[in-house]
Amino acid sequence: MKQIRPEYSPVHGKTYSLFGNTYSTSEYYETIRMLADKTQVLYPDISAFIKSIRRFSSKKRILKKSLRNTESENLMSVILNIIDPYLRKYTVNTEEHLRRLPVSKLWDRRLATSREQYHLYMLEVELTNRLFSSEFITADKKIALMPYCLQDFSIKCKSARKGFDYQCRHCSAGCFQNYASEILEANNIEPFIWIEGDMKKLAKYTLKEKRTFGILGIACIPELMWGMRNCRKNNIPVVGIPLNANRCVRWFGEFFPNSVDLKELERLVTVPIADNT
Ligand code: SF4
Repeated sequence: MKQIRPEYSPVHGKTYSLFGNTYSTSEYYETIRMLADKTQVLYPDISAFIKSIRRFSSKKRILKKSLRNTESENLMSVILNIIDPYLRKYTVNTEEHLRRLPVSKLWDRRLATSREQYHLYMLEVELTNRLFSSEFITADKKIALMPYCLQDFSIKCKSARKGFDYQCRHCSAGCFQNYASEILEANNIEPFIWIEGDMKKLAKYTLKEKRTFGILGIACIPELMWGMRNCRKNNIPVVGIPLNANRCVRWFGEFFPNSVDLKELERLVTVPIADNT
């Protein structure tokens, strides 16, 4: 019997929330798809587009200047000026967080992610999903890496080590990890709560057996971007879905309940993106 999914209420993050000022994350996903469509017209080679975002997004000062210079003919600057006004409602807390971030923590690139970088990462995640969707769905072996901050903190989590890493034991009807794991298992993707598994070892072992290998990541936007870029660098087809907000101990010093859009997760793992846009 299908379980009733946990209540899906807006959550606010330290720097971002995909709810924006609404009660659902649907608007965010519609917006990011619209922006990807619009910008892909300007930059049709998706692989080259992703590489350009990666390079451009590393230059924080230039990003700020690009927003001030709306007359620029530089393509990446034009693209940033297209996406920025639509995505600002999802990153309202970023500047306040950066103002309060102690100098000693500025070296941490994830914690020090700027508002413009968030917007480019959002676009890059969507484009990377488009690039690898079919390859991921048809891979022989697929795993999903989920963060432990998605579990139900009101009870003692019963997840246990199995194979590559920890797996959910479905102990709570109020746990997003539980439902995400169910969706993934139903689509032949092994779900893991990523705590100590060695991804490189697993990829090497799978590829040695001449089987194709794909990874799905769930994490807050800066972590997800880091992981997806790492997979791309190692030629692993990767897709990803951001947590609805960043609310873990790393950002707040303690854990707060979090969620992920389960409908979007289902969409991502069921039909290749080229077939469902
Ligand atoms: S449902 Fe799974 S992830 Fe959630 S608390 Fe239980 S064992 Fe842990």
